[in-house]
Amino acid sequence: MVKTKFKEVSNSHKLKTYIAIPRIFSKIKGGYVMVSSELMNEYKKLMEKSKEIIIFDSIKSLLEWDMQTKMPPRGILLRSQQLGLVSQIEHKMITNPEIGRLIESIMKHPDYDSLNEQQKRNVYLVKKFYDEQTKLPERLVVETAKQEAIANEAWKKGKAAKDFSVFKPELEKLVELKKEAAEILMKVKETPTPYDALIDIFEPKMTSEMITKIFNELKTGLVSILEKCVSSPKQPDVSILKRKIPIEVQRKISKELAKFIGYDIESEKAGGRIDETEHPFTTGYYYDVRITTHYYEDNWASSVFSVLHEGGHALYDQNLNPEWIYQPIGSPCSAGIHESQSRFIENIVGRSREFWLYFLPKLNELTNNAFSDVNLDALVHAVNLVKPSKIRVEADEVTYCLHIIIRFEIERDLFADKVSVAELPQVWNEKYKDYLGVKIENDSEGVMQDIHWAAGLFGYFPSYALGNIYSGQLLAKMEKEIPNWKEQLANGNFNSVKQWLTKNVHSYGNLYDPADLIRIVTGEEINVKHYLNYLNEKYSKLYGF
Ligand code: ZN
Repeated sequence: MVKTKFKEVSNSHKLKTYIAIPRIFSKIKGGYVMVSSELMNEYKKLMEKSKEIIIFDSIKSLLEWDMQTKMPPRGILLRSQQLGLVSQIEHKMITNPEIGRLIESIMKHPDYDSLNEQQKRNVYLVKKFYDEQTKLPERLVVETAKQEAIANEAWKKGKAAKDFSVFKPELEKLVELKKEAAEILMKVKETPTPYDALIDIFEPKMTSEMITKIFNELKTGLVSILEKCVSSPKQPDVSILKRKIPIEVQRKISKELAKFIGYDIESEKAGGRIDETEHPFTTGYYYDVRITTHYYEDNWASSVFSVLHEGGHALYDQNLNPEWIYQPIGSPCSAGIHESQSRFIENIVGRSREFWLYFLPKLNELTNNAFSDVNLDALVHAVNLVKPSKIRVEADEVTYCLHIIIRFEIERDLFADKVSVAELPQVWNEKYKDYLGVKIENDSEGVMQDIHWAAGLFGYFPSYALGNIYSGQLLAKMEKEIPNWKEQLANGNFNSVKQWLTKNVHSYGNLYDPADLIRIVTGEEINVKHYLNYLNEKYSKLYGF
């Protein structure tokens, strides 16, 4: 572990510095405030260090993107070496004692308060990350990285063999390492439990106690809507979604969707591109943000919604405040806020009647009239089918959060030592029966369906459901400010929605923690009501209740 030596500054020295150092002017909201040049020099040095880390991290992302999209199979031998070395260098950059010295010097400076809100937030974000990373012993970081790779392989094998016992011993080791890290982070982050420290990585300041309360309310609302949908005599015909559409044609559909949402992949100034991978994802920074999708010949809708989903992530990354590039505040707020943007475009926009009013004729044109016999309302109902299922990534809007609630409750109990790794399949299957009424036949469609735990991503799952809740709150606010947004959508105009999201979410970057951002933008605390209202209104029309 790296130990930081901070420069001691005596009070008399501080006082002398305060008086003697020449001043420069720094413009902040509401006027000019004097900031000492010594302080500004230290701040600039810290921002330079931070910029290097951000750029270096983007290099790592590019290596990972290439690994998923273009790399030939044998390339993995060299790539794992490249990624290992890059991660090691990055860790050294992040824990560089000079960063600790600069933070200390800035925060103890008598003029610290003259820094503006954005500068203070930058210092706070660097400090938070530095404190956490330096407290984790290098041995633990390296062991965890190795174990994640091993667990990932064991998960793939176990999943293919439908045999949890293949994955179990490696997952047990990984969970032990994660518990050790969580115990350390809990002290640094001052969270009530180790699991809260893991949640904080993805959703800063959110606690498992708050999530439990929010999710209980959400669950009650969702189960009520679910029961009404399932028992309705009005059920959609989903065979429309199974019509065979050649992959070449589906690529053209993706281009059209990208154009519609304003995600430029074609012009000379394009900052995006779409590639093909097993699992869709988004990666990038400001001017180079790439998405991927997966085409299935007999499931054209799958790619339509993944392009809209990943496109929503990409718009966020591309539309962060351009003045904040290379600064810590020029990054997304949290995983939950990120997910609110992708789910907003995928579901609130992409599964709305108005969107299909505009897009169905386009789809028909692009597919050489493959949908000329399709009725708009039948299609809209088909893309909004509500049906309890076993697989999270295939879940509809109503049941999706129930999948997340199950994972959250299991993780919370696992890290509180109430559930062991060996008990996971049993607990999983019971909850699926309880919450969704489905019977899990084997662990591949059960506890091993997601990659998250094999990748060491504990504490991540709640962000998905929080994203949905945030998207409902943002929608309620946007409807007040753009009452005719649906009419505009029906006319093929997505621009005002995009601008609204950029102004109210993207451009704030990481200036606030998620709870503060939601309060500032919507005027209220996190509130499940709006998402439930949105679902109720939409599905009561579709299912006639
Ligand atoms: Zn997403």
